[in-house]
Amino acid sequence: MRMNRPQKRYSFFVLFALTLFAAGVIFFCRAFSAAPLNAMEKKSYTKAEEEAKEKQEQKLPLSDSGLQKKCRKIYKKNKKLLVLVNRQKALSENYEPALQAISNGRLMASSLLYSDLREMLSGAAGFGYQYWLASAWRSRERQQKLVDEDIQMLINKGMSYAEAEKEVYKETQPAGHSEHETGLALDILCSHNPEMTLAQEQEPENQWLRENSWKYGFILRYPKDKEEITEISYEPWHFRYVGKEAAEFMYRHNLCLEEFYQIAVNRAIK
Ligand SMILES: [Zn+2]
Repeated sequence: MRMNRPQKRYSFFVLFALTLFAAGVIFFCRAFSAAPLNAMEKKSYTKAEEEAKEKQEQKLPLSDSGLQKKCRKIYKKNKKLLVLVNRQKALSENYEPALQAISNGRLMASSLLYSDLREMLSGAAGFGYQYWLASAWRSRERQQKLVDEDIQMLINKGMSYAEAEKEVYKETQPAGHSEHETGLALDILCSHNPEMTLAQEQEPENQWLRENSWKYGFILRYPKDKEEITEISYEPWHFRYVGKEAAEFMYRHNLCLEEFYQIAVNRAIK
């Protein structure tokens, strides 16, 4: 097809303009689309990171309804063993534990833990580990006496009453708030070093208990990484009987009793 001269020039300019436009479009797309894409990628990555961090901080996927259900089921079945006693929650004055003598009659503890305690101690004995049970059940009056004695000891060392009380309550619960009053708590020390100090942690006897007590229904009640939740300083010697099912659940999901209770009770009410 033949074209006359002005038509030819016109087509040339249109083609030139279109090429320029296309080049411009490609340039702008490459220059500016890369930035938002990267930003979007970065944003979703950060969100994933945040979620992972949150999950890690919770130490338990609380959103996992299966776990919550299991927790509530265990709680419902073992309410008596899972009674929560702490700084905020006093033991009911009507609570009367069925007690049984342990350690050749030297101490009393809840009859509910008796056979599992025996099994645990004989399990440890299989490794040559022997223990000294320093404390088990305490009456409310006895707890008050212990608190008063400790406070007095610190006052004698020069502290004011308020200072001494604050110091004592870091490790000891006020009367009515000690789970020793339930008969379900035991202070277990290694027999060749029966001192209630953090040095217990270094003893293989204590290490064995911290790793294996859950198999017999006991939990380390005041772990190092839960001090802010339990409001009690780390006590490697204080074990609490909660029954095998709950102990295994708490051990596997790294929950202290307060956390377990929160999932089992508070969340169940909703
Ligand atoms: Zn204790």
